[in-house]
Amino acid sequence: MINIQALKKNFNNELVLADINLTISDGEMIALLGPSGAGKSTLLRCLNGFERPTSGVLTINGQPIPTQPKLLQAFRKNIGFIFQNFNLVNRMTVLDNALCGRLAYTSTAKSFFKIFSKEDRELTEYYLNKVGIYEYRHKRVDQLSGGQRQRVAIARALIQQPTILLADEPVASLDPKTAHSIMSLLQSLKEEEKLTLVMTLHHVELAKEYAQRIIGLNHGVIKIDNLSHQISLERLYRLYERNESNLEQEVKAGELIASY
Ligand code: ADP
Ligand code: MG
Repeated sequence: MINIQALKKNFNNELVLADINLTISDGEMIALLGPSGAGKSTLLRCLNGFERPTSGVLTINGQPIPTQPKLLQAFRKNIGFIFQNFNLVNRMTVLDNALCGRLAYTSTAKSFFKIFSKEDRELTEYYLNKVGIYEYRHKRVDQLSGGQRQRVAIARALIQQPTILLADEPVASLDPKTAHSIMSLLQSLKEEEKLTLVMTLHHVELAKEYAQRIIGLNHGVIKIDNLSHQISLERLYRLYERNESNLEQEVKAGELIASY
């Protein structure tokens, strides 16, 4: 379980996340939505310690995120992270890129010489097969399409056998058809691997179709937190209006007037 209480995050003098309160149960599939700059990535990055909250409490399974590097590395084994731009080494093969996911389990010396155990290799091949990329395992990553690269990145994240998978705009650079195929892959992996999946998205429709719960951020404030099927697309689009906060005030003012 992920628990966030009164989390604030400042960058210099800019308040990027303001008083975030959130509980995420095991096995949920959550989309973080909101306009550019709303703080989605920052919130996601707080969850694996890439960013540190300025104040507030963030625990995962009751434990705060460690600061000591060795403990942090051990903690991160439990949390896979998928980046928008895949973060793969283009000149390396699919297999070697995916094997990098086992580095947290390998000593520094062994990882330097790329010495992986038989188990590491078998696990890697298993996940490459699972994400549908096994036949390309000896290809260099720069010879693959965007969708195929994202599959490699997903395999690399799963190979560390996390229980939480975080994905920052996993389909942003993909065409619509490929985006759907990656979203349904994530959805089925979430079920099969019993993951908690938290992703930032900017496609409102994709979020509604695939995520169970949507958290809508605007200016670092949670404006929406509800099950996808209980939120209308119109409400989600409204999250993107620049005067969302004014709108709320107008609604409140309207209610006030109506109550007279
Ligand atoms: P989103 O993912 O919703 O587009 P981000 O979390 O990336 O939003 O960014 C929220 C705000 O925080 C933006 O104004 C951005 O410029 C700022 N920001 C994000 N990361 C940093 C950083 N490392 N240093 C300074 N400002 C940052
Ligand atoms: Mg972002």
